[in-house]
Amino acid sequence: MGRTQTILYDKTYINICPSIDCLCFSSIIGGKIMSNNRNKIIADIKEQEFDLLVIGGGITGTGIALDAQDRGLNTALIEMQDFAAGTSSRSTKLVHGGLRYLKQLEFHIVAETGQERAIVYENAPHVTTPEWMLLPIIKGGTFGMFSSSIGLYMYDFLAKVKKSEKRKMLNKDETLKRVPLLREDILKGSGYYVEYKTDDARLTLEVIKKAIEKGTKAINYTKAEDFIYENGKVIGVNVKDILTGEEFKIKAKKIVNAAGPWVDTLREKDGSKKGKYLYLTKGVHIVVSKDKFPLEQAVYFDNDDGRMLFAVPRENKVYIGTTDTHYKDDLISPKATKEDRDYILDATNKIFPKANLQKKDVESFWAGVRPLIHEEGKSASEISRKDEIFYSDTGLITIAGGKLTGYRKMAEKIVDIVSKDLDKYKPCRTDTIALSGGNFGGSDKFKVFVESKIKEGEKLGLTTVESSRLVRRYGTNVDKVFEIIKNDFETANKYNLSLEVYGALKYSLNEELVCKPIDFFLRRTSSLLFDIEWTRKWKDPVISFMSDYFNWENKDLYIEDLEKYLSEIEEFQE
Ligand code: FAD
Repeated sequence: MGRTQTILYDKTYINICPSIDCLCFSSIIGGKIMSNNRNKIIADIKEQEFDLLVIGGGITGTGIALDAQDRGLNTALIEMQDFAAGTSSRSTKLVHGGLRYLKQLEFHIVAETGQERAIVYENAPHVTTPEWMLLPIIKGGTFGMFSSSIGLYMYDFLAKVKKSEKRKMLNKDETLKRVPLLREDILKGSGYYVEYKTDDARLTLEVIKKAIEKGTKAINYTKAEDFIYENGKVIGVNVKDILTGEEFKIKAKKIVNAAGPWVDTLREKDGSKKGKYLYLTKGVHIVVSKDKFPLEQAVYFDNDDGRMLFAVPRENKVYIGTTDTHYKDDLISPKATKEDRDYILDATNKIFPKANLQKKDVESFWAGVRPLIHEEGKSASEISRKDEIFYSDTGLITIAGGKLTGYRKMAEKIVDIVSKDLDKYKPCRTDTIALSGGNFGGSDKFKVFVESKIKEGEKLGLTTVESSRLVRRYGTNVDKVFEIIKNDFETANKYNLSLEVYGALKYSLNEELVCKPIDFFLRRTSSLLFDIEWTRKWKDPVISFMSDYFNWENKDLYIEDLEKYLSEIEEFQE
């Protein structure tokens, strides 16, 4: 490892640790906090003993942090990558009851997650939107017309779906009117029902931002290396700042392992990996342009091997997935193979033959690892998605499995346990807590809010499309973005950044702990998935701004994961 250098930047002394593992800027010596608050958070975390430390900044961990903090527990959260960089930015991006669980007779999951959809929507309508889903009924398919009708009726009943969103059964003609691209000769009709579309990474971010607003100390790129014990009980964690290489301790009365696909790694370190263990499966999605696949209606369709896939329109793109295969490889960057891609293309072309999608049409992709609980003799798609809690004799509590949709209920279970153990029990209130950016006073006010704010953005010089993107993405936080644009358009000009990009970037640095360009392009804006042209256009000016902002000595270290993703996308088209 190279020698750490100290430099003076913006009246602040900064330690630069040059090793690959240590990557970045950071660490104040002389009083002033780096502009993204990272050093201040770390200093705060080191100083105190918390009621609760959560390991893992995916939807499970962030949900626990919000609930715990709201119930008065002094809470810290660490995430070894960026927030949501694990499974929580790699899902199908649906807040759904999971129709497939009905097929597996898991009524409890259907009821609980089904009911949760409305709550997740109400608390953050800027990240979650109702989306009518079409379930084609095909000859020889998984669902028949009668069983679909009964199934969807039960789905509505269990999920307590409101009247306007209750399922409809469509005949063949009605179905083709909605989705003319469907293969006609095997089509019998369809079920038509409501699910909710989300941005999983932004949902996770809005949860952790709300927790931070309430007092949680949360930091990304900080890894739990191992546990600290006293009299056989876990009382803290030795952590490493992945960006600086600095090592320090965090003390807490209770520690929750919410490390998703990595929970068993931490259970092994704790010596408590006994009984049930994780079974990891991989799911891949591909993204194509609507120019190639003009689908305007979300469809949940059968492949002929019995697996089900989603095709979901999103702005000018459509994403399709997922595969569901056993996975044992790299967890940080799960690999999407060309077989995965071909499987999805074949399945799509079979049911939408007019689309005739080719590998060169794939504009982007993502792969995610699902942390399921092993069940003897069951295949990847048969294993239950229910969550499970493991208790260690050391006091470590682990939560695994579950779904994005059920995050709030998972958090409630954990915080009930922790708060009772600490003799600080208060009832859960997260069903009525608006997430960060979600203060519209009810989802019914969202539309009016959007319309008026878009106009405000236009007055600042944004185009309607740019303004709309910002308003819909940031919700009520868009005022902060507009403030940045109003006060600092000269900086935007200096770096050749459009007002939209500059506002989003500066906001993400100020409020969302962005450390690397990939954090911005993949998890703050998801442009790497759904707007690859936008990513390519703004990549260099964004890197240039971030490089000056953080005073990077070797910017290659920060951009290598973004470059790698971009080149993987190119290879994926071959
Ligand atoms: P993660 O998001 O993986 O978070 C765990 C975090 O812990 C990671 O970010 C990791 O970096 C961090 N970590 C690990 N070890 C350490 C350590 N030592 N120190 C610090 N941090 C650590 N659910 C739905 O409801 N709807 C869907 O449409 C849906 N689709 C899916 C599609 C696919 C392909 C997959 C794979 C899953 C899908 N799911 C869906 C399930 C859902 O995405 C997951 O249940 C959920 O995201 C898991 O969140 P998590 O927080 O438990 O795990």
